[in-house]
Amino acid sequence: MRILHIHAHPDDAEIFCGGTLAHLVAKGHHVTIVTMTPGDCGSNHHSPEEIGRIRRQEAADGAAMIGADYFCAEFRDLAIFETDEARRRVTGILRRTQPDLVITASPIDYHCDHEATSRLVRDAAFAAPAPNYDASAYGDYPVMKAIPHIYFADPAEGTDRDSRPCIPHFVVDIESTLSKKRDMLAAHESQRLWLKEHHGMDNYLETMEAWSAQVGKYAGMRFGEGFRQYKMHPYPVTPLLEELLGPALVTTLEERDRTNVEKIVRSLRLGRERRRVAGHAHRPAAG
Ligand SMILES: [Zn+2]
Repeated sequence: MRILHIHAHPDDAEIFCGGTLAHLVAKGHHVTIVTMTPGDCGSNHHSPEEIGRIRRQEAADGAAMIGADYFCAEFRDLAIFETDEARRRVTGILRRTQPDLVITASPIDYHCDHEATSRLVRDAAFAAPAPNYDASAYGDYPVMKAIPHIYFADPAEGTDRDSRPCIPHFVVDIESTLSKKRDMLAAHESQRLWLKEHHGMDNYLETMEAWSAQVGKYAGMRFGEGFRQYKMHPYPVTPLLEELLGPALVTTLEERDRTNVEKIVRSLRLGRERRRVAGHAHRPAAG
């Protein structure tokens, strides 16, 4: 199967889905990782061109660690919008990669680029099989045969913008691929300084592990990654990602699990907020 992971920035693939992508490649599937931007605003020290060059290379290095392809869609940070041009450009990426299955950002997340990416990918997936929808400005690629399966990764910290838990449909066990995920993320060396200075995150590798442990807890695993399938008419609703991974790695969350997930998210969120109050007393709000 051909799998496309398309998220906003370099390091999002690793943070939200690195363990799952490593499983998929190991099972023989072809994975392409696309970032919408080269992370051109993610530095206090380099110019947009310099940091973009560094971060494209870091993203390519991270993808290569699991045998995935990588390219950048060349939007710019904080400038991804739902425009006619943007939807055609994303449609061109879908036609270029011809995925059976697409994993993208959560439609609700902390960053405007994540949310815009999610909507553009969702709608480009609808457009990509329509022969009269012209995306030829972005390459001479065949019209897709069908709408691909669409899955949303979890939002950061597992909540919406009002701190309400975002419950995944299922959790993928990534305990056996966590070290790969950690290595992939460590390839994003330039992010370490940026996240420390801008987000107040001292160690992004430990933060990633803490998020993975949070999601794992929902399903009684040590480490997990959560996903929701987009099932609106006329998108495909068969559980393709779950089938590709197999039942040993996938735990479906039922309605009865909701209270447990809410309790986990609430207690972790309160702890994080207390630490942020202590650490951000004079820090401007992150953008
Ligand atoms: Zn991001």
